[in-house]
Amino acid sequence: MLKIKDLHVSVAEKEIIKGLSLEINAGETHAIMGLNGAGKSTLANTIAGRDDYDVTAGTIEFDGKDLMDMEPHERVAAGLFLGFQYPVEIPGVSNLNFMRTALNSVRKMRGEEEMSAAEFMKLIREKAKDLGMDPEMLKRFVNVGFSGGEKKRNEMVQMAVLDPKLAVLDETDSGLDIDALKIVAEGINAQRRDDTAVLLITHYQRLLSYVQPDYVHVMIDGLIVKSGGKELALELEEKGYADVA
Ligand code: ADP
Ligand code: MG
Repeated sequence: MLKIKDLHVSVAEKEIIKGLSLEINAGETHAIMGLNGAGKSTLANTIAGRDDYDVTAGTIEFDGKDLMDMEPHERVAAGLFLGFQYPVEIPGVSNLNFMRTALNSVRKMRGEEEMSAAEFMKLIREKAKDLGMDPEMLKRFVNVGFSGGEKKRNEMVQMAVLDPKLAVLDETDSGLDIDALKIVAEGINAQRRDDTAVLLITHYQRLLSYVQPDYVHVMIDGLIVKSGGKELALELEEKGYADVA
């Protein structure tokens, strides 16, 4: 599903990712753990295709296609979803409108029919309910005045609506209290199927108690320095990064 080979990424002429390789197959959940500043968000932003992230060497293939040849919206239409560490607020655009426009744009690019307003309402109400979101929040402007946890939950509703092949979730656990964490974890687990994959990016072990990854990778200074099974996350929590890597 995702094949990253010897990736080098610079931001503002400074190299942040320094030769990272990673392969994720359909049906797998991977976690990348690392301290602040390791380059985790830089990796996520590069996969998403954000401007100002210069890929200076290496390749990223998604579903057999060269990701670097694709615009961000083409990546989304191909089945990529990125949950941001700091979700943006969009004043003036209702959450409902935002999600319906996003979904229908993707469907259009895939040559599928647009979803009617009634059909969409049914879908989104169901997803909001599954994820414990107050339906009133769907009418509000995107993320405006949402708490940290509500923003993260909103991202999970977006993910559920778009139903991506590969979800890259950057610090989805930050800002969540334990109840919200459990609900969000359920949302992520519901997204795990034989034909999908999930990449969790996180600083802490706690999300990984609820979403058990198949593989854990430790990232330090722009590189994956160690990979293992889910037990590696516990080892990190216990011993800290310096001793494990
Ligand atoms: P993490 O998500 O692991 O905490 P980041 O990818 O956010 O790490 O950051 C890695 C390094 O890259 C940091 O030193 C950060 O200051 C730098 N960096 C990230 N984005 C930018 C940017 N847009 N401009 C300048 N420096 C950046
Ligand atoms: Mg980050």
